[in-house]
Amino acid sequence: MDIKLNSLDKTIVSCKKCPRLVKFIHKVSSNKRKQSMDEVYWAKPVPGFGNLKSKLAIIGLAPAAHGGTRTGRAFTGDKSGDFLFKCLFEAGIANKPYSKNINDNLKLKSTYITNILKCVPPEDKPLSNELLNCSKFFDKEILSLKRLKVILTLGKVAFDNYVKLYKKKYNINGKFIFRHGKMYLLPDNKILIASYHPSPRNVNTKIISHQMMINLLNKVKKIAKI
Ligand code: SF4
Repeated sequence: MDIKLNSLDKTIVSCKKCPRLVKFIHKVSSNKRKQSMDEVYWAKPVPGFGNLKSKLAIIGLAPAAHGGTRTGRAFTGDKSGDFLFKCLFEAGIANKPYSKNINDNLKLKSTYITNILKCVPPEDKPLSNELLNCSKFFDKEILSLKRLKVILTLGKVAFDNYVKLYKKKYNINGKFIFRHGKMYLLPDNKILIASYHPSPRNVNTKIISHQMMINLLNKVKKIAKI
């Protein structure tokens, strides 16, 4: 696969610090899903993507087993990503309504997309030491976004973990309650916004709809001034 990586990305991609996750990535990549039998899975940690001058960061918890772990790009190649990129396109943030693979020429307007954890965990449940191990990469990614204004977290687990890391880093307390569309002004003047995760389960049960996500993205765009 052809991909341009900066030095942080390269470090992330070659990381093997969490043995359980390294093993799981290997398992997932050797038990390919039916429709991807002919593909070579990425089978490594998945760094974030987007312009480092971005004002908006969209944050998930971890790459999907047959999404990011297969394609090498966060929210790429799975149903959650299909939903997300359709909405990002409608909101004028992405140049295409889909995200298929790392060579699809997808471009984002002032937006960086990443996950708190760079490796897929079994049952989507990371252990606290894995989150701790990977937090140094996540911190560096966020710090490298010098113009960052707004952080949009997808799903309660990503929101709660983002808050946990943030509280620890800045030694702050306070209640951060997850509610779709809820906004918090953080002590470093960035704005944290919660969103439902665009998972098939949330979409099928109508917890979130395309229109709800597009409305939120339009609001986010205004706040981030992108
Ligand atoms: S989760 Fe992060 S720290 Fe752990 S192996 Fe993957 S990239 Fe390394």
